[in-house]
Amino acid sequence: MTLHVDRLRSGGLIATYQCQSACPHCLYRGGPGRSPDYVSQEMAAACFAKALSLGCASMHVGGGEPLADPLGLAGVLAAAAETGMHLEYVETSASWYDDADEAVELLTELRAMGLSSLLVSLSPMHNGFVPLRKTLGVLEAARTAGVAVFPWQEHFLADVQAFDPEATHPFAAYLERFGPNYPAEILRRTWIHLGGRAFDLFAPVLGRKPVEAILAEASADCRRELADASHFHMDLYGDYVPGLCSGLACRVDDLGAPLDPERYPILTTLAESGISGFYEYAAALEEYQPLPGGYVNKCELCQDIRRHLTQRGWFESTELAPVEFYAAL
Ligand code: SF4
Repeated sequence: MTLHVDRLRSGGLIATYQCQSACPHCLYRGGPGRSPDYVSQEMAAACFAKALSLGCASMHVGGGEPLADPLGLAGVLAAAAETGMHLEYVETSASWYDDADEAVELLTELRAMGLSSLLVSLSPMHNGFVPLRKTLGVLEAARTAGVAVFPWQEHFLADVQAFDPEATHPFAAYLERFGPNYPAEILRRTWIHLGGRAFDLFAPVLGRKPVEAILAEASADCRRELADASHFHMDLYGDYVPGLCSGLACRVDDLGAPLDPERYPILTTLAESGISGFYEYAAALEEYQPLPGGYVNKCELCQDIRRHLTQRGWFESTELAPVEFYAAL
C-alpha cells in the first residue's frame, strides 16, 4: 500500500528556512545560507485550509526565523484569520531583537493582527548564535506587549547563565565547561528528534554503526513514521514534510488520498519496504557507497542516500525537497 495521510492532528507552518542562526540540532537545517523566501499569504491560507479539511484546527508557525519578515508574518496571521485556523504560537530565536522599545512596538502591532503567543528558543544550541540578553529581551517585550510567552526550554536557563549574557557562545564552550558528555545530558533532559544537523551533534555520545548493523535492526517499513501527523509540518513552497523526515516532501495538495507511486517513488518505497528497500532501490538506480564511519541510525543512512541521489542529479520526482536542505551535506 502506498502512503496515505488522511488525518492531520497537530503541526506547524514553516514560514521560511532562513535564520540568522544555524543551530547544531536544527532538524530542517535552517540558517543564514538558506533562501530568504517567505510564505505568501495565499500559500499560508492554502496550507491552513488543507489542514482544516483534514481535521487539524490549530497550528503553530515556525522556521527558520518567522519574525525575520514581520510583514510576511502579518500575512500569515491574516491567512489564519481568513481561514479560521487557530494559531497556537509563533516560534522565534530572538535574533532580531535590538532595542526594548522597538520590540514592544513590533509585538504590540503583531498582537493586534492576531499574534497571541510566542515560543522563544532558549538553549545552549541557540546561545551559539543569540546572546542571552536578546532572548530575555524578547521575553520581556512580549510580556509588556500582552503576548503570552513560553521559553523553550526554561531548564536550560541556568546552563546559559553560566556565560556572559552579552555575547554568543559556541557549543564547544559548553562542552568545555560541562564536559564531553554534555550532549548525552541534553538528551536525558529533553526530547530532540535525531534528524538534520542533530546527527553530527549527538554522534560523539551515541556512536555510529556500520550499514549492515543499521539494516539488520531496522523495522520492515517506515509507514508509521511517515504517516505520523502528530507533529507535522507544511512549508512556504506548499510541501508537506511526512512525519519528522526532513528533506522528504509531498505536495500539500496531494494529502487526503493515497500518494501516486509513480509521482512519489521514494516515499512509496520507504513506506512499503523501509530503509532496506530504499537502500536497495538507490543501489540499483545509482551506485551508492555507504560511509565508512557508519550512521547514528536508519534516518541518518536515509538522509545520506538522499544526499547521494541529489548530488547525482536525481530529479525524477519532487520528493527530495527543498533542494537546499541537501546543499550543505
Ligand atoms: S528511515 Fe527515512 S523515511 Fe524512515 S523514518 Fe527515517 S528519515 Fe523517515
